[in-house]
Amino acid sequence: MTQWLPHPLTGQLFASPVPPDTGWPDDPASAGDSELDRLGAAISVCRRCPRLVEWREDVARVKRASYAGEPYWGRPIAGWGSAKPKVLIVGLAPAAHGGNRTGRVFTGDRSGDWLFASLHRVGLATQATSVHAGDGQRLIETRMVAAVRCAPPLNKPTVAERDACAPWLDAELELIQDHLRVIVALGSFGWDASLRALGRADYDVPRPKPRFGHGATAEVGGLTLLGSYHPSQQNTFTGKLTTDMLDDVLGRAATIAR
Ligand code: SF4
Repeated sequence: MTQWLPHPLTGQLFASPVPPDTGWPDDPASAGDSELDRLGAAISVCRRCPRLVEWREDVARVKRASYAGEPYWGRPIAGWGSAKPKVLIVGLAPAAHGGNRTGRVFTGDRSGDWLFASLHRVGLATQATSVHAGDGQRLIETRMVAAVRCAPPLNKPTVAERDACAPWLDAELELIQDHLRVIVALGSFGWDASLRALGRADYDVPRPKPRFGHGATAEVGGLTLLGSYHPSQQNTFTGKLTTDMLDDVLGRAATIAR
């Protein structure tokens, strides 16, 4: 079934086809009651970046052998979590066989395993794991987004793709900013994307631009921006990021939120 959804920025109608041969049973994109619901539905049918559309749908058709029997989402990943978050977690982009498979950000991959276990330890998630979109996991006063909503080859979006996706982050920030107290940026990409979005939203971003680092803190127009190394396997396997280090940053976010 194809639904037609209004773009929240332009009003233009978008078709929302399920990518063929991904095995996804039906089109779950629906315009719910809230503006965040409608934003998420519009994001889920975005096709602005030809290279990323081709990649995300190819990955979803071919599939990793260990997931061959599973449906793949194969579409952009909307923000997920509380509709009135005090904490916003900003990552880079969905993983090809994680969010691009399960349809939920940081769900079904090793980075997400680390992230959700830590969120649970510091009291920002109800469960220690996030396996699939129907697993009952719930974030507590917390929302998470990817700065670029489609899985990119080699986890590297181009500058043009980064900029093409920025309006989605801007639109989401606008809808939640009245509740927000802290942004946790995972990696320098999330840090820079957050600062750029805050600048576009007329927050008073310090100059020179605050530098990213693990545990870095910046006060931006009444919000606290915290930096954490990204829980990528490259960082967790090598010990660059430990569970204590991640708990420390997310625990600080939880404290600020409360
Ligand atoms: Fe659309 Fe963003 Fe995906 Fe590009 S990366 S197709 S702008 S959702």
